[in-house]
Amino acid sequence: MPKQKPPVQPGDRIQLTLTGQTHTGDGVGKYDGFTVFVPLTVAGERVEAKVTKVKKTYAHARMEALLEASPARVDAPCPVFERCGGCQIQHIAYPAQLEAKRRQVANAFARIGGLEEVKVLPVLGMDQPWNYRNKAQVPFSGRRGRVKAGFFAAGSHEVVEFEHCMIQQPENDRAIQRVRELVKELGIPPYNEQKHRGIVRHTVVRTGVNTGEVMVVLVTNGLELPHRKRLVRELRERIPGLASVVQNIQTKRTNVVLGPENRLLWGEPVIHDTIGHVRFVISPHSFFQINPEQTEVLYEQVRRYAALSGRETVIDAYCGIGTIGLYLAQDAARILGVESIPQAVEDARRNAELNGIDHATFTAGPAEEVMPRWAEEGLHPNVIVVDPPRKGCAPEFLDAAVRTDPDRLVYVSCNPATLARDAAYLKEQGYVNRQVQPVDMFPHTSHVECVTVFRKQG
Ligand code: SAH
Repeated sequence: MPKQKPPVQPGDRIQLTLTGQTHTGDGVGKYDGFTVFVPLTVAGERVEAKVTKVKKTYAHARMEALLEASPARVDAPCPVFERCGGCQIQHIAYPAQLEAKRRQVANAFARIGGLEEVKVLPVLGMDQPWNYRNKAQVPFSGRRGRVKAGFFAAGSHEVVEFEHCMIQQPENDRAIQRVRELVKELGIPPYNEQKHRGIVRHTVVRTGVNTGEVMVVLVTNGLELPHRKRLVRELRERIPGLASVVQNIQTKRTNVVLGPENRLLWGEPVIHDTIGHVRFVISPHSFFQINPEQTEVLYEQVRRYAALSGRETVIDAYCGIGTIGLYLAQDAARILGVESIPQAVEDARRNAELNGIDHATFTAGPAEEVMPRWAEEGLHPNVIVVDPPRKGCAPEFLDAAVRTDPDRLVYVSCNPATLARDAAYLKEQGYVNRQVQPVDMFPHTSHVECVTVFRKQG
């Protein structure tokens, strides 16, 4: 095929109609047959845009003028929306966001899985799609006296300050503000990434939405934390519900927020929250669903698809801190969890104990190694639930899962592309899904979560 020169150059001003929305929330259209991505636009709109970057098969452009607006366009309510990297689609009305996410899932099934016949149901959204996050990781930058704390801009480490974060729980949002103002008042030097100097790197603030317990973690570049006592005293006065203040030490040059060491400065080393009828402990390092309200919606769907009677053996693969398995435990005879991070497995065991659940066991290891072992041992689960990371399930895992001959496999996915790929693979093995239920766990961001059930054919 002859090499074609892209029809655009950086700096060109072009007019185009956006025909779709990408999984990252950009509008996408064709100019002279060439794919162009334009952030902050909506499918259906016509815009004038300036080309910013040209690759072999596509280009990026910035909207300069909106020629025809979509009826789905709204004014983003957050004043820093266009600069902050936290949300991508606040400029799209919420019902249209949900429909865009549904279409994205349907496209993945049709194009990647070759599974047009799978019905993608309307996305289950939130009644009030704001103030849902229970956790924030806020980086500090700047200099003593001119401290900045906010969120990173998209694709960079420029800190964008905000007054209120509209997707944070109000308790969490307030706590972030109090920590930021105290670091400024007390003149604690912020960390400087380039020079690897300074003290406060991040604050991580977590709230147990259903318990009201707040945890403040200050991540420091070493043991030193000036005005420690005063800081704790002021935090206690200013943050209602404060239950835990922890110093975390991260001395590495890295983007990883938390270091290995925690020092309890005040209160309890953990906070608690609930999902449905199950109670969980949350430590600074614990993974915990960041939108508990929608997590319950998701798990209820998992429960319906699992259709348990109380007699079943259930595998919870990629189980994290055991959330799904423990949620299902009262309807099952036996739960077996598997998870690769040992610390999460310890949390899962602790959570089982906390809830008086004694028929759940958790194994640390890669699911693609543990599952074949279970198959070898002749384990025959009735239901397998999987909730893998973005890359989906390893084929070795799926092969072994099929060998154990379950009646149903419930798949929770944060990436429609790998879900569709795995669905096509499972179909070849005789496990078929007919519908997918997307759930909106992260309103105003481009993420979409799905749940579906594969049933053994014949
Ligand atoms: N089901 C849990 C966590 C889902 S997140 C919940 O809803 O809270 C996905 C989990 O898979 C993470 O905890 C991650 O550590 C784990 N994981 C990633 N790769 C894995 C692998 N190869 N084997 C087992 N677990 C893995």
